[in-house]
Amino acid sequence: MDCLFCKIVSGDITARKLYEDDQVAAFHDIAPQAPVHFLIIPKKHIATLHELSEADDKALAGHLLFTAQRLAQEQGCQEGFRVVMNCNDLGGQTVYHIHMHVLGQRQMHWPPG
Ligand code: 5GP
Repeated sequence: MDCLFCKIVSGDITARKLYEDDQVAAFHDIAPQAPVHFLIIPKKHIATLHELSEADDKALAGHLLFTAQRLAQEQGCQEGFRVVMNCNDLGGQTVYHIHMHVLGQRQMHWPPG
């Protein structure tokens, strides 16, 4: 499958990996928007949040979130951090394999751009 993040999972494209288990992988964003900026993805290919299945992927969705919580703490974001998931073109998504952005170690602002 011609998917950038599937290629990172398979090792065909290298990334600075932070964490991996049988369900998820986490790696530093190639163009960080904060001193801490990493991505957590399911190993299973799911193109957008629209395709996340409540019936099949509930545990996976929870695992993504709790991985974000744990890795943010490990990356020194105890004072706070931001989690972002962009969905589809209008939501600002550019890579069509769902991913959770975790950003930290700077003051965040609202609304986002
Ligand atoms: P999106 O815009 O889809 O929410 O986020 C995609 C993210 O993937 C962007 O922040 C972008 O910098 C990151 N990205 C794109 N290509 C690569 C890559 O080859 N390696 C890594 N580590 N990150 C990438």
